[in-house]
Amino acid sequence: MSKNDWIDLRSDTVTHPSSEMLAAMAAAEVGDDVYGDDPAVNRLQDYAAELFGYEAGMFAPSGTQTNLIALMTHCGRGDEYLVGQEAHTYKYEGGGAAVLGSIQPQPIANQPDGSIALGDIEAYIKPDDMHFARTRLLALENTIGGRVLPRDYLAAATQLAHAKGLATHLDGARICNAAVKQGISLADAVAGFDTVSVCLSKGLGAPVGSVLLGPKAFIEQGKRWRKMLGGGMRQAGVIAAAGQYALEHNVQRLLEDHDNAAALAHGLAQVAQLTVSAPQTNIFWLDVPAAACEPLRRALARERIRATVGPRMRLVTHLDVSRADVARTVDVFTNFFADWRE
Ligand SMILES: *Cc1c(COP(=O)(O)O)cnc(C)c1O
Repeated sequence: MSKNDWIDLRSDTVTHPSSEMLAAMAAAEVGDDVYGDDPAVNRLQDYAAELFGYEAGMFAPSGTQTNLIALMTHCGRGDEYLVGQEAHTYKYEGGGAAVLGSIQPQPIANQPDGSIALGDIEAYIKPDDMHFARTRLLALENTIGGRVLPRDYLAAATQLAHAKGLATHLDGARICNAAVKQGISLADAVAGFDTVSVCLSKGLGAPVGSVLLGPKAFIEQGKRWRKMLGGGMRQAGVIAAAGQYALEHNVQRLLEDHDNAAALAHGLAQVAQLTVSAPQTNIFWLDVPAAACEPLRRALARERIRATVGPRMRLVTHLDVSRADVARTVDVFTNFFADWRE
């Protein structure tokens, strides 16, 4: 349960740093990171690079920024990247690649499992012709809407991209959820990707920050964009230490969030008026009768439960949601719909 004892199911971004994490932040040895002088930032970058199997890492304020830095480093003006219609980089980052990078997105329909069909990837790669933007990059996302992309799909998609001369970037905001779900190492989970962006502030529970991982020369080039975008931070070790703590302590425990999501979905599926999709990780969706949304929103708020209520609503578990919170939430939904008449 979160500090102010609301149960917050809107997102896994809402966690509060634990006292152990705050202690690690207070103890951080810091310096000016724009000069490369911050020991805690350097330690996090090296640690994350090693953990995921890359040469180098870069700490930045947000996943939006690490994704944008990656796109701007892979692609130049007049280049194009292939991306899913539902992808965060395309849909939820304000069009940054186009606005700030002069990079044309080529959005492609996501399949029901979250993947982009290999045939579509191949079909959307433009020939070398002055009429077309230059297709440079394939960007995938894992997990996507809580779904885990299959390993053999990721291997095939990244191989196809490379064979066609494209680079590969993974928006791995929740790659740790995918890895623990599949029972594989973080390095295996990102195999085939030239670069990956990992959020420390989602299920891992840090208050802020993301890391971009890739080849050393790429990360060095990316640091210019980071500075331009306003992401050059000074004594950032205070927050990097939270990310370090998160990577050291909060990866395996994501399985608890997955179990809690499964228990919550199972409990809600017993309510006749709800249609609940089975969660693969910590995020799942449910359909609510449209007429019930407004009264349900009020009922949840009365019971100190925060959720983004709508006809198709998303629920998310995280380290500030306990099994007792799950049981209480199921009770509140059950009681509400026992009384509700359209
Ligand atoms: C949250 C998120 C991001 C961006 O992270 P911010 O730190 O919120 O900017 C990128 N991709 C995905 C899939 C995300 O869920």
